[in-house]
Amino acid sequence: MMSPRPKLAVWKFASCDGCQLTLLDCEDELLAVAGQVDIAYFLEASRAIVKGPYDVSLVEGSITTAEDAERIRRVRASSRFLITIGACATAGGIQALRNFADVEEFTSAVYARPDYIQTLETSTPIADHVPVDFELRGCPIDKGQLLEVLTAHLHGRKPVIPNHSVCLDCKRRGTVCVMVASGTPCLGPVTHTGCGALCPAYARGCYACFGPSESANTVSLAARLGMLGARPGDLTRMFRTFNAGAEPFRKESTAHDAQSAR
Ligand code: SF4
Ligand code: SF4
Repeated sequence: MMSPRPKLAVWKFASCDGCQLTLLDCEDELLAVAGQVDIAYFLEASRAIVKGPYDVSLVEGSITTAEDAERIRRVRASSRFLITIGACATAGGIQALRNFADVEEFTSAVYARPDYIQTLETSTPIADHVPVDFELRGCPIDKGQLLEVLTAHLHGRKPVIPNHSVCLDCKRRGTVCVMVASGTPCLGPVTHTGCGALCPAYARGCYACFGPSESANTVSLAARLGMLGARPGDLTRMFRTFNAGAEPFRKESTAHDAQSAR
């Protein structure tokens, strides 16, 4: 008897759906992936719902409500491998900007009836709530990296996702360094690989959509950016974007926040 295909589930928490769309964007590869798994739960793609337990769960989005916190525990309990995808799930996402402010001020500014809004004070990554087997960074994630993670799990091997910085990719593709050549501020030295150093290839600085690389030395980079003219407020804003809640970026942005308040 043929062994049943592994059951894949795709879950959404607070997010824009961009990372789930990356899976649907795998136009050439999707049929091959779909042929190896049973897509048991993926509301973005299908109304069919197959009951768990699931072999692999892809989780997009951050935890922003008490209901989210409860639901992710149920997802974890029904999943053998749980893989978080994207900046929201791995770092709290753009919605983690609330962590640096008063959430009631935001809800009052945005909603006509803020009293209807029930939300947590913070937006937090999935790993703050349940054990996670693998984190895939990016806003949104890279299709090639997603396919590598899925294929690795299907074949019972470790995913090969490097964690060097964007700078190394610039060197590999022969891109002239925008900081060295033209003094353009670039977060590439502290940013995780994933895009193939796209922005510097078009003479733009990187603004870190793949989050911190391994051992990101944000202190040194901030000092260098200061020499290029960045003021504390600029540095806070640079580190406070899609991955504002990732620990190295959170610490660095907060350090310059304190300086600009002086
Ligand atoms: S352009 Fe940016 S990412 Fe590329 S080598 Fe220079 S600092 Fe690094
Ligand atoms: S901002 Fe940085 S990480 Fe994002 S695509 Fe551009 S170079 Fe890549």
